[in-house]
Amino acid sequence: MGKTIIFNWKMNPETLKEAKDILNAVKKLSQSAKQKIIIASPFVYLETLVKSKNKKIELASQDVFWQEKGSYTGEISPTMLKNMEIEWVIIGHSERRQHLNETDEMINKKVLAVLKAGLKVILCVGENSAIRKKGDKTIMDFIKKQLDKDLKNVEYSVNNLIIAYEPIWAIGTGIPCKSEDAVKIIKFVKKILNTKYKIQNTKILYGGSVNGENIVNFVKYKEIDGVLVGAASLKKEAIKNIINKFK
Ligand code: PEP
Repeated sequence: MGKTIIFNWKMNPETLKEAKDILNAVKKLSQSAKQKIIIASPFVYLETLVKSKNKKIELASQDVFWQEKGSYTGEISPTMLKNMEIEWVIIGHSERRQHLNETDEMINKKVLAVLKAGLKVILCVGENSAIRKKGDKTIMDFIKKQLDKDLKNVEYSVNNLIIAYEPIWAIGTGIPCKSEDAVKIIKFVKKILNTKYKIQNTKILYGGSVNGENIVNFVKYKEIDGVLVGAASLKKEAIKNIINKFK
């Protein structure tokens, strides 16, 4: 399999009609696409998207709870997603770490529960600007700690885990990470996973202000296995450029 694009819609769009519209735009372009395409949609649209998507598109939820069922008002379980034929779950997105106070311990429970249910994980890691300013060693120490905690007791295969390196200061700011810096961290993550899990070829993506113009700067590197796209994944013109320029 080639590279991967994950379109993360975040808490958008506001109507089911718009969600179907964006799906249709991706569907058309996906016919000739060589990459794996995953759409991460809000829970409320997933059922419709499952029915209307094509085989080239896989679906992800943007979060999950770690219990299978029971008295957890407002939560969605891995089993519910599995039964709806959702394949992937984003876990540990920095917006959830920041605004919902998700800790690495919570993220680890979610990763374990999702894999146990037979779903696949997109785990997001990345440093904030204060850590970035301290330089490579501090960034790498931070990412290593996140991976150690988030993947504690986790057994995975190359097929059921994707890591997205998403520096927080690059998300939604219009200021992407320099591609050489992203490559440096992605190589480091690969080295950790190879050493600790003895699993080669885990897919590591870059995310943070990727758009139709700058995507080539990232995907031209063999080390970067794809991109996680936020804001641009809602704009038809950007989606077109992202999928076409990626070829
Ligand atoms: C994201 O949602 O993880 C993301 C990278 O967003 P954006 O592309 O808008 O920076």
